[in-house]
Parts: sequence; structure tokens; C-alpha cells
Amino acid sequence: MDHAVVIGASIAGLLSAAALHRRFAQVTVLDRDTLPAVDAHRRGAGQSRHAHGLLARGSEVMDELLPGLSAELVAQGAIRGDMQDRARHVHAGRRLARGSSGLTGLLVSRPLLEGQVRRRVGALPGVRVLAERTVTGLLARQGRVTGVRLAEGELIPADLVVDAAGRGSRTPFWLGDLGFRPPREERVTIDLRYSSREFRRRDDHLAGDVIAVVGPTPGTPRAGVALALEDERWVVTLAGYGMGPPRGHGDFAAFAATLAAPDLHHLVTTAEPLGEPRTYHTPTAVRRRYERLASFPDGLLVTGDAVCSFNPLYGQGMTVAALEAKALLDPGLSPAAYFRRLAAIVDLPWEITVGADLRIATTDGRPTPKMRLIGAYLDRFHAAAAHDPELTRRFLRVTNLYDPPQSLMSPPALLRVLRSGAQRAVPVPA
Ligand SMILES: Cc1cc2nc3c(=O)[nH]c(=O)nc-3n(C[C@H](O)[C@H](O)[C@H](O)COP(=O)(O)OP(=O)(O)OC[C@H]3O[C@@H](n4cnc5c(N)ncnc54)[C@H](O)[C@@H]3O)c2cc1C
Repeated sequence: MDHAVVIGASIAGLLSAAALHRRFAQVTVLDRDTLPAVDAHRRGAGQSRHAHGLLARGSEVMDELLPGLSAELVAQGAIRGDMQDRARHVHAGRRLARGSSGLTGLLVSRPLLEGQVRRRVGALPGVRVLAERTVTGLLARQGRVTGVRLAEGELIPADLVVDAAGRGSRTPFWLGDLGFRPPREERVTIDLRYSSREFRRRDDHLAGDVIAVVGPTPGTPRAGVALALEDERWVVTLAGYGMGPPRGHGDFAAFAATLAAPDLHHLVTTAEPLGEPRTYHTPTAVRRRYERLASFPDGLLVTGDAVCSFNPLYGQGMTVAALEAKALLDPGLSPAAYFRRLAAIVDLPWEITVGADLRIATTDGRPTPKMRLIGAYLDRFHAAAAHDPELTRRFLRVTNLYDPPQSLMSPPALLRVLRSGAQRAVPVPA
């Protein structure tokens, strides 16, 4: 095949290009944004000012697609480490036990990560990454997509078009123009409000830990995360379901004090702030069910947030985009088979986040009896994991998208949870 066009030069688009360049002589990645020459925030990726955790699985798959990437990021100041070791995880109001998970995480700002991925992809033979090109429509002939149309009127022919334009993807509308049905959308209203601020990092902050995650609980629908970044910085993100974001520094610290554990409040009241808090609102998580369509044009595929944009609190988007990019390595996949493969990738993270979100009173939808039962079990699981590094390790394997949630109910896990019954009523220690 000769030419593939990718719409969107963010994480999903760039990783798609990294995969497609192994199959196509030429790959053109188009983005409507001005792409910064240095690693900086840009308009089309407003999320980059907020905590952007890369799960261990995501880092691993990005290294498969772009060998040596994580080492290059570490050389530029990114921090690599075990996800359970220099990390504080408070879930369901329980501080989970430390240990060694065997899962290697990478702490890096989103601008540095995206910038390095863009440099690597742009240097691949036959790949061009073009800024300030807005795709406004698809070209098609006899039910097959044959290229894209740009706002400036230019037509770019392609053997394959991959839509990686994010949550605002136009493919559902373009399908209608071509006489196809759009995908059904599943939406979960989360009304999640973020506020994030950077701080100067000192080695004594959080006693040398580099990750602190304080998750929401049904009674405390607020969360926070602090991630150490390159250049001796922290990014601290505070989040609330259905409640206004904190704006000024005083509000930011006051909000941090309402979380289920005091770690982030302590950090933001002792570290030196760098800049003002920035806010972001995510009204819904959206999943587009392309795999359920009866017909879909050849020559077109969709990936990344354009297929599913998750509740960002769980840090899954970039990892899912990386896993989906691997599906593009397979030249023999029909659109139907490709979307079935994507659905299998999305099912697990979607199940994890929707199950957790539906337990929060402000989200719409009701948990099913099965979900309520699982929720009750997870409360016991977390209580046990507060004392059991092995249970914490298993939990992190699920949240890092290595194992399915069912693994938390395997007979060995169940036995450990039941044995720990006597230790249930331990509060979160400071
Ligand atoms: C607040 C927030 C926090 C997040 N935190 C995390 C996290 O901690 N960990 C994690 O893994 N993920 C996180 N995510 C998700 C993550 O940012 C995305 O999953 C990831 O960027 C992949 O998205 P994407 O490339 O599919 O789309 P996007 O990142 O949305 O990029 C779409 C690109 O397409 C371009 N574009 C759009 N329309 C057109 C057009 N018509 N023509 C040309 N170009 C176009 C845009 O300019 C943009 O560059 C977060 C998201 C949000 C909103």
C-alpha cells in the first residue's frame, strides 16, 4: 500500500503513524493545531496542563512501537520507577500497602512525552507530520474512503484514512454524508471538574515519594493526584464530581484538605507554587460503538479518544491509544474485525471506570445489583490490601491494564481478603 493519512497529531495519531509506517510507503499526519517546536502546551491538547499519568502498560507498548522511547525520556528528566514502591495509593479510603509491583511507571509531563513521540515519529522514513491542516471531510468513491478534504480546499488522496481527531471526531457525521449509519454512543455523565497547579519539587516532599493518588469514595466524591515531573516539578490535580473547581491558591489548598487523605493538602501547603491553578471540565465519558455497526466503508478506521474518551481520573487514555495503535500493525484486518479488536481493548478500562463512577452519587445511571456486590467486595479488598502488598500488587496490575478486574476475585485473592477480615476497621493514617 502507498499512502495512509492520519487525522490528528496527538498521542493516538502519532502512535498510529508509528504503526502504519511499517505497512505504508508514506504516512501523512495532519493536525489543525500549531505544533510547538519546543515541548510546550498547545491549544488542541488543553488536557496537557493536568496530571497525565502514563500507566506501566502504556509505557511498555510505546516502547514496542518506538523502541528506546522511555530511555530517551528518562535522559530528558522523566522519572522511572516501580508503581508500588515510591508511591502512595489511597483507594476506598484505605492506604494500600507498599511493596514491589514489578510494574515500571514513567513520570513525564504531557508536553515532553508528546514532543518526544512527535520527534520520533516525524523522523521515521516516509512519515510527515503537518501542522495547521484542518480536515473538513472525507473523499469517497463507491462506498470506499479515498482521502480527505482540507479546510483550505486541498484534497489528499489515501489508501487508508485513520481518524485520531479525539473526542470531537467528525466521523459519526461524515458517515451520514456517505450514506452509512453513525455509531451508537454510550455516555456516562460524570461532571468531573479538574483544577491543576504545578509546584517546585524538593526531595523531602512526601518523604521522597514520587506519586500520590487519593481516589474518590461514594461518601467523598473528590480525588487528587500528585506526580513528580522532569525539571524538579510536581503537577497536582484536584478533582470533584459535580462540584465547582477550586480557583485561587487558598481554595486549592482548602479543597485538598477535603480529600480522603491529607497527603496532597500537606504537599500544596508546603511546596512553592509555580503559576496559577488551571481548570478543566469533563461532562461525560463517551464510548462510540463502531463494532456494532452493520456496515462501514473500507479505507477508513477510527482510533483513540474518537472511539472512547474515558473518565480521565483513571489515566487510561494514552495507554488505550497505544494498545489500539498495535491493531494497525495487522494488514489483514477488515474494518469490522479491527473495531471488534478495539472493543476488546476498550472493554476492560471502560468496565473499570464505569463501575467505579456509578458508585458515585452524582453520576447518572444506577449501579446494577452485580455492580453493588462487586463494590462491596472491593471495599473489603482495599481494606485487606492496606495490610497486604500482594493484594496491592494485584490491584495495580488491574489499574495498569495488565489483568482483568476478575483477577481480584480469583481464589488466591479471595482467600487473602477473607483471611484479613479481622483487620478491616483500620482508618487512613496520615
Ligand atoms: C483533563 C484530562 C486529563 C487526562 N489525563 C490522562 C492521564 O492521566 N493519562 C492518560 O493516559 N490519559 C489522560 N487523558 C486522556 C488523553 O489525553 C488522551 O486519551 C490522549 O491524548 C489520546 O487522545 P487522542 O490522541 O485520541 O485525542 P486528542 O488528544 O484529543 O487529540 C486529537 C488531535 O486531533 C486534532 N484534530 C481534531 N480535529 C481535527 C481536524 N478536523 N483536523 C486536523 N486535526 C484535528 C487536535 O488538534 C488534536 O491534536 C486525559 C484527558 C483529559 C481531558
